[in-house]
Amino acid sequence: MSNVTASGHHAPIRPERDTFLADENPFEAMMARFDDAAQRLKLEPGLYKVLRSPEKQIIVSVPILRDNGEVEVYTGYRVLYNTARGPAKGGIRFDMGVTLDEVKALAAWMTWKCAVVNIPFGGSKGGVICDPSTMSNAELERMTRRYASAIIETLGPDSDVPAPDVNTNERMMAWIMDTYSMHKRHTVTAVVTGKPIEMGGSLGRREATGRGCMLVTREALKKMGRPLKGTRVAVQGFGNVGSISALLMEREGMTVVAVSDKEGGIYNPKGLNVPDVIQHLQARKTLKTYPNVEIITNEQLLALDCDVLVPAALENVITQENASRIKAKIICEGANGPTSAHADKILAEKGILVIPDILANAGGVTVSYFEWVQDRGGYFWDEETVNQRLEKIMVTSFQEVAAMADRHSVTMRIAAYMVAIDRVAKVHRLRGMYA
Ligand code: NAD
Repeated sequence: MSNVTASGHHAPIRPERDTFLADENPFEAMMARFDDAAQRLKLEPGLYKVLRSPEKQIIVSVPILRDNGEVEVYTGYRVLYNTARGPAKGGIRFDMGVTLDEVKALAAWMTWKCAVVNIPFGGSKGGVICDPSTMSNAELERMTRRYASAIIETLGPDSDVPAPDVNTNERMMAWIMDTYSMHKRHTVTAVVTGKPIEMGGSLGRREATGRGCMLVTREALKKMGRPLKGTRVAVQGFGNVGSISALLMEREGMTVVAVSDKEGGIYNPKGLNVPDVIQHLQARKTLKTYPNVEIITNEQLLALDCDVLVPAALENVITQENASRIKAKIICEGANGPTSAHADKILAEKGILVIPDILANAGGVTVSYFEWVQDRGGYFWDEETVNQRLEKIMVTSFQEVAAMADRHSVTMRIAAYMVAIDRVAKVHRLRGMYA
């Protein structure tokens, strides 16, 4: 108990890390920011140790019967990083790139993200190393159900609540909900979020992350005394987060000058018509054939002359190699971890306001929380109520992080970690250490 309560000591300074490692290893990149924030908060050494360690790491074998009759065994993970503030919350990804370090980092991010927006959840994440593009629908169903049953001890509305992530969707959440419910012998909708509306999903969930990005960008512009009208926006990634962010920013009067997907981007300095681009992509499956635009690469998009840059695709796209070329005044991190720890320093020196991922894209988990609340209450809200409550949380959270940044003269990223770590630490102190 004693080393977790008041001590007045700084958290220990960690040894210098290898540059490559801190940029490339997601857990190290997360820890670099965590350490900075923890030292500024003067986190006591015992609590520092507790918050650096994932609470639970589960590794499971996931055998499935392939359609050709052969058995294949995949490896799956579920990491519960911290549950002091409530049930763990975090997505499940199916991808060849899944590693335990990545899952740990993502679980930690979920912990800080839920704390930044002050919703009563801890953080978790899961993944299976597989290539879903080579699997049939039936194989995917068998794998999803077998993975869910392999981690069933951790799952539950009061303990660990998954959601979709890379290569998983509402269909898979329905299978997990069904598998869990079959084991429990009754229907438990609140065990997952991101479900189809018909079985307990929330209105507004699909747009929530992009809506959150728009709301925090609007607040950042207000804080900088810049008008929304005419603000030029470039968006990397035109999937769920990128396309909805672009659409809602345009509705607020901003001008979206460029968007991209994995094939590359399109640019028109006078502004794109976002609903038209969305329609074009849906019909033609490519941005490249969109008329009256300049075709650009994803690297060129990052360096465009614009006011707001929204990286909404992948991790680690803004690095020490390209950060100095960024001209935007505001970066709104729609994706998780788009900026490497070393790029942070370059962006700060350039005076760019970075709205960090754990704040910028927290709209998604906020409406997932609303979904869980609605499932548990058995009473569903209209979309206007969802959006109003989301707006209140995003605006309040932005202001709390901005106030922390001003008070300590730190970046919004470090301030967001400070707000989050402080909230998790306070609960640990109140609960005391069962050690
Ligand atoms: P998505 O699959 O709907 O869209 C991803 C987009 O990125 C697609 O347009 C794809 O073409 C593009 N892309 C892929 N590889 C690319 C590359 N190499 N260069 C440029 N673009 C590339 O995914 P999403 O749900 O929009 O998620 C995007 C990011 O936002 C991820 O980092 C995800 O973890 C994060 N995020 C999503 C949510 C959510 O609610 N969907 C919530 C929080 C964070």
